[in-house]
Amino acid sequence: MPDAGFNMKSDSIQTVRPLEAGVVYAFSDCAEPVCIVRSGDRLAIETLDCYSGQIRSSADLGNLDRSRINPATGPIRIEGAKPGDILCITIDAIELAATGIIVAGNGIGAFGAEIEGRACRIVHIVGGSVKFNDYLSIQASPMIGTIGVAPAGGSISTKDPGAHGGNLDSALIRAGARVYLPVFQDGALLAIGDVHAVMGDGEVGGTGVEAGGTVLLAVDIIKGSRIHNPVLEAGEAWVTIASAKTLDGAVDHARLDMFRLLQQSLDLPDVELAMLMSIGGSSGICQIVNSMKTARFTMPMSLCGRRLLPHT
Ligand code: CA
Ligand code: ZN
Repeated sequence: MPDAGFNMKSDSIQTVRPLEAGVVYAFSDCAEPVCIVRSGDRLAIETLDCYSGQIRSSADLGNLDRSRINPATGPIRIEGAKPGDILCITIDAIELAATGIIVAGNGIGAFGAEIEGRACRIVHIVGGSVKFNDYLSIQASPMIGTIGVAPAGGSISTKDPGAHGGNLDSALIRAGARVYLPVFQDGALLAIGDVHAVMGDGEVGGTGVEAGGTVLLAVDIIKGSRIHNPVLEAGEAWVTIASAKTLDGAVDHARLDMFRLLQQSLDLPDVELAMLMSIGGSSGICQIVNSMKTARFTMPMSLCGRRLLPHT
């Protein structure tokens, strides 16, 4: 991996480019950081599409190098981040490449024998709109599929989601959102990839509109409070995000994570928290197509306040 050079400046936006700095295919504490930043720094992180740019036409689908699926740019070391801290990532903007890729077919995502064959489509993204064909377009709503830190132990493929984040494929991880990740290793070791121009909840066909991009973000370390799974601040809502072998398990973990956070932040008996979660909270699906499924629980700030996490 080429040396990207280390930069400790905190007053300018640092750009991290995958082709110069490098990409990872697993979250772990073994990978050399491609840059070191401080809490409060802003970064522009360029990302490759989830096929590492290997698909330029339909013909390329058959001979993909599978070892280059889902690259994440990084890891980025955040100086001072320690296990037990929270890493807060404020997503300011997501800029998209001019084209995106959609792949679907037999055995991809949730689809099986009901589809024959496999196909990919390269689509143009023009003026904030994805042109599916000559008469169907869909508005772009850029999001980050893969965002995570080094896990507590070992190495987790960038194709998998988990407590460390990773391949969460949550359509809510977009500009304006804040992603809170538990820190498990010194320096957190953040990596980001798998930008989608747009994706539906579930990602049922196995891809969104896969696109390279540039993510503008700020990183902050929060000391003195702990989370066990990713938490999202999205618009006027708090969202817990959890992954498990089954969607049932993921839904339940996300519900329980929210319940625990509400216990800490609201001075209400448990039964009333359950009432509030039932009447105003929503269980939802992030994705059902990765090795582990990812679900969320969304609670409007009008019911749970702006300070769900300490120090927010
Ligand atoms: Ca993904
Ligand atoms: Zn993707």
